[in-house]
Amino acid sequence: MSACHTSRCASLRPARQAPTLSRCFTITAQAAQVPATGRPAASHRPPAAAAADQAADGASAASRRAALAAVVAGIAAVGAQPAVADENAPRQGEVRHSDAEWRRLLAPEAYAVLRQAQTERRFTSPLVNEKRAGTFVCGGCGQPLFASSSKFESGTGWPSFYEALPNSVALEPDYSIAFMPRIEVRCSRCLGHLGHVFEDGPPPTNLRYCMNGAALAFQPQQA
Ligand SMILES: [Zn+2]
Repeated sequence: MSACHTSRCASLRPARQAPTLSRCFTITAQAAQVPATGRPAASHRPPAAAAADQAADGASAASRRAALAAVVAGIAAVGAQPAVADENAPRQGEVRHSDAEWRRLLAPEAYAVLRQAQTERRFTSPLVNEKRAGTFVCGGCGQPLFASSSKFESGTGWPSFYEALPNSVALEPDYSIAFMPRIEVRCSRCLGHLGHVFEDGPPPTNLRYCMNGAALAFQPQQA
């Protein structure tokens, strides 16, 4: 995890507890009808998510928590830190540009997502229906992020994956919506905002990386 290994984190005051994915799951389940949360409305819940809803306790939840351990390990390291995932937070990673350069390099919708952490309207990205074999890469720096084999139909209207490629993403607590702490997903290389990760995905990880298509580009597998 590299997102919070910046000097700014050392100066952040200790504050409220960082959101765990389990907390996100509980809270978003209560707010399923709230738009633009990255969580599908109840009527559009995918089977996997519905099953997750029904498995709030017991072995399934336990296994889900176990599966999350590796993912949230990085979050634990920043667990005492307050919200940092907002459009004003510096997003200077290994690949960095001035804001003016980012504006010039990116399409407006990509800039809004990657650099300002905005959320695209659901079902607006052509990548929602992208089914070819290949790799989804960061729209900001080109880093490979998701294999097409990890993509699944979430019914949310956003490209969804059950796992990211190793070391390709960084996770940050996100308190930008009151009463609904979430886990922001950033590209580990340019720290561009990609979306959020929830724990109502399908096996084998039971995670749902809910991504903005505008933050991604697709590279078809070469024959
Ligand atoms: Zn990137």
